[in-house]
Amino acid sequence: MAAAARPVTDDLVAGLRGIVGQRGLLLGADVATRSCDPFRDVPPEGGVIVRPASTGEVSRVLAFCHARGQRVVTHGGRTGVAGGAYAGLDEIILSLERFAQIEEIDAIGMSVVVQAGATLEAVQDAVAADGLLYPIDLGAKGSATIGGTIATNAGGNRVVRWGMTRANVLGLEAVLADGTIVSAMNRLVKNNSGYDVKQLFIGSEGTLGVVTRAVLKLVPAPSSQSAALLALPDFASVLDLLGRARRLATLSAFEVMWSDYYRLVATSGTGRDPLPPAHPYYVLVEVMGHAEEVDRVQFDAFLGEAHDAGLIADAVVAGSGQQIAELWRVREASEVLVRTLGSFVSFDVSIEERAAESFVEAARAALTSRFETVRTVTFGHLGDNNLHVGVHVGPDTFTRETEVERCVYAVVKEHGGALSAEHGVGRFKREFLPEHVSPGALDVMRRVRSALDPSALLNHEVLF
Ligand SMILES: Cc1cc2nc3c(=O)[nH]c(=O)nc-3n(C[C@H](O)[C@H](O)[C@H](O)COP(=O)(O)OP(=O)(O)OC[C@H]3O[C@@H](n4cnc5c(N)ncnc54)[C@H](O)[C@@H]3O)c2cc1C
Repeated sequence: MAAAARPVTDDLVAGLRGIVGQRGLLLGADVATRSCDPFRDVPPEGGVIVRPASTGEVSRVLAFCHARGQRVVTHGGRTGVAGGAYAGLDEIILSLERFAQIEEIDAIGMSVVVQAGATLEAVQDAVAADGLLYPIDLGAKGSATIGGTIATNAGGNRVVRWGMTRANVLGLEAVLADGTIVSAMNRLVKNNSGYDVKQLFIGSEGTLGVVTRAVLKLVPAPSSQSAALLALPDFASVLDLLGRARRLATLSAFEVMWSDYYRLVATSGTGRDPLPPAHPYYVLVEVMGHAEEVDRVQFDAFLGEAHDAGLIADAVVAGSGQQIAELWRVREASEVLVRTLGSFVSFDVSIEERAAESFVEAARAALTSRFETVRTVTFGHLGDNNLHVGVHVGPDTFTRETEVERCVYAVVKEHGGALSAEHGVGRFKREFLPEHVSPGALDVMRRVRSALDPSALLNHEVLF
């Protein structure tokens, strides 16, 4: 399957320049000063970034690379946290940054046609003028692109209400490794005309083709939003609260923070301490709706009933949009984690909610039995089974990364969980994939990849 590695040569650069022009090429310092990782400084090893500005240019670049056996790594906003955008010495980078227009908003059909390099935030801002929302929402939305979120099947904060990216894409266009343009720009809600080809590319992490354009499904923008940060006495209360919250038609987020996470963030000196850090669990619960008064009454009733049932030890209810944003700052504090822990191995796993507490305890026990120093931070979108765990095992955390991963992924497997909930496999988790999917499923994945990109030229080191 693997193609022989090809060095980057002058004629490669000249050929690419012939397709995209001088403005479409970055070389030398312009490449070396970029990072392929949002949290670490990891410049591309190769020396070329090609920036096509149309689907036609993407197609010609890939056809040219295909003919030379040249490997290509696709870049969106480089916010991915699975190492999928890392590029080796024998790989050139194809960036969608110059292909970022919002082409058309259909306010009646409630969809938007966008080019893959558009950021999530740019799309959200553009459709807001028509009272519409593209509901995929994540902390990195200012940089993460539509192409990147499609390639990773991004989840984010509001999956409990609107699902992952997979559920919010109506159609897309992609270019295969040999330059073939595949148009599946469906705008129809119902379309059972054969295989749903777009779904192949969603979550394929750039291994099956380069996503160039997409038709995104929009929803009416909610006009009301309420949120509360709750402290809970035990995990049984968290589960009980989740069951009650899921019965609210307006539920838009249910984020859980274990005390190790909350204490670290609340004592970071960054003003993220709406409740004292004395409780074992914290939940940020949010509702969004279309009838402010009714939504507020319903949310207050939910909180009142949970309080009367003894589920809530302490609470802050936001009274304004500004206060809701303040509560979200507690949950979205990745820069605090980076600054305080220095180095940590980051996990993005899925565990059934009823097994989550036992998983966290078993993972901590497994780590403690193996490493002398162990510090964890645990939080996540429990409403959709997703837990994030950060693990620090001392100054040599990064050199012992694989040991830490082996330890935690064994516990994930024992608990019937998934290796990745939303960040993808990328380069970081590829060695663990075969242990976490069935041999039959892995075989289908290999066959599909080899049918579309027999030489594995696209994102060669990603997935398997
Ligand atoms: C602060 C922060 C918060 C985050 N929160 C979340 C979260 O809540 N939920 C979540 O799911 N993720 C989250 N992420 C991860 C990240 O934002 C997502 O994975 C996002 O989808 C990556 O988009 P990108 O444009 O940055 O892609 P990149 O990082 O550039 O690429 C990611 C992968 O997709 C491939 N790719 C990129 N563009 C294309 C394309 N057009 N065609 C084919 N392949 C392509 C790349 O080769 C790579 O393998 C977060 C990251 C940060 C830094």
